Amino acid sequence: MSKTTKCKVQSMNEFTDEGNRLFGENKRHWEFVCPVCKTVQSANDFLKRGLDPNKYIGYSCIGRFKKNPPKAFGNKKIAEGSGCDFTNGGLFRLGPKIIILENKTERYTFDFNRSEEPNDNN
Ligand SMILES: [Zn+2]
Repeated sequence: MSKTTKCKVQSMNEFTDEGNRLFGENKRHWEFVCPVCKTVQSANDFLKRGLDPNKYIGYSCIGRFKKNPPKAFGNKKIAEGSGCDFTNGGLFRLGPKIIILENKTERYTFDFNRSEEPNDNN
């Protein structure tokens, strides 16, 4: 698999359908996973911190808004779930999803939290 196909591309409709299927229609409960520190975060978590989730959800790790967050690309290993300073708006856009918006622009976003999803491999 080449680097350019690493991100999963979805239309906004496909993305919304998947979110509804996993978490229901209330988007505040949709859970995303930071691709670097694996922290699960929802719009509710951003609202609790007084942040506008529309700006950040699935895009910037909630760890960015802590004091002195661990650096996503620093030398120190980040404890899983501790939050970090990663954003898809930075130099390294990890996605791992790309949503094609209605105006045809691409938005890099975190993947949904799939830890509750039934796994066929078991
Ligand atoms: Zn993170």
